Amino acid sequence: MLTKTKIYLSSPHMGGSEQKFVNQAFDTNWIAPLGPNVNGFEDDIKKYLGNDKHVAALSSGTASIHLALQLLNVSKGDEVLCQSFTFSASANPIIYQGATPIFIDSEPDTWNISPELLEIAIKDRIEKFKKPKAIIAVHLYGMPYKANEINAIALKYDIPVIEDSAEALGSRYFDQTCGTLSDLAILSFNGNKIITTSGGGALITNSSELKDKAVFLSTQARDNAPHYEHSSIGFNYRMSNVLAGIGRGQMEVIDERVNARRKNFNYYKQNLSKFQNIEFLEEPSGFFSNRWITCIKTTSFDLRERIRQALQDDDIESRPLWKPMHMQPVFKDCMSFTDGTSEELFKNGLCLPSGSNLSRTDLDRILNIISNTPNL
Ligand SMILES: *Cc1c(COP(=O)(O)O)cnc(C)c1O
Repeated sequence: MLTKTKIYLSSPHMGGSEQKFVNQAFDTNWIAPLGPNVNGFEDDIKKYLGNDKHVAALSSGTASIHLALQLLNVSKGDEVLCQSFTFSASANPIIYQGATPIFIDSEPDTWNISPELLEIAIKDRIEKFKKPKAIIAVHLYGMPYKANEINAIALKYDIPVIEDSAEALGSRYFDQTCGTLSDLAILSFNGNKIITTSGGGALITNSSELKDKAVFLSTQARDNAPHYEHSSIGFNYRMSNVLAGIGRGQMEVIDERVNARRKNFNYYKQNLSKFQNIEFLEEPSGFFSNRWITCIKTTSFDLRERIRQALQDDDIESRPLWKPMHMQPVFKDCMSFTDGTSEELFKNGLCLPSGSNLSRTDLDRILNIISNTPNL
């Protein structure tokens, strides 16, 4: 009997050169969190984002956000505004620093941080003599947030923005690449992201001093001395030279990966838009999403669950959209500024399999199951 293979939400997709770079690391014995692949990978990202940027390759996206907060001197008692509709890794580093997250709901055009609610929150906190130390904005599922509006508010109140571009390498906002829309941005190369090093991340800055400081902190903050001398607390957050080799191979195929994910989105949309109960997130004019994950919004929780269950019964992975941070038990005591947008997305939305390695046969199998959901 022919058994169907499991279809994953987003699985790693190697390009071909990764092993060559990994072998070079072995051949030269650079099995360490530094070496030619780390430098080469940083250069590749720099070239991709624009040469005026400075890139520090780190052990994860989470570590990159943590160091970004550290570079902004966020510390105990400070407040940080954070998009509520995101993965918990956007917010957890705020807690690592002993600071307090305040969650901001999304707006419907991009599903990302609402400029209106952001400004309301800032005014409220300033009135209470608690001016926020930073804003964490996220390009969720690859869709850019409204950067002009967010940056204007940030500038008006003089609060730095950390751009969480973990899901958005290859996305663009007007003529700019995501990861370059702010003074401090982060990327992730976890196994499920658009390209992967199995695990890894990067911090992107405008200044070589900030990059050097990030590298210094990420390698245990050793002062310049023959012995181990420390005048600040360091972290072990640098990327491994072996894993950076995977990253160098992956950077050779980033454009192909973006095209493949966008093609998935278009194929889903082409075949499902005849159903009135299913909606897609369109790109506002000037926005270009890498379509890391194709998401649908249904008209009810019940329908969403029936689709999800039918896919699961055929060994196809799908997942509800991110549960907003202001609804998470771990953040239940945190303040939030919400209007119901992300709660509705969480209730009715579903992530569909979106890997760049999905075949037409895989997509047709998924579409067949969805299209046959009763009462669609
Ligand atoms: C994946 C992800 C992160 C964390 O990146 P890791 O490399 O997994 O630590 C942060 N923010 C968002 C939005 C993510 O999707």
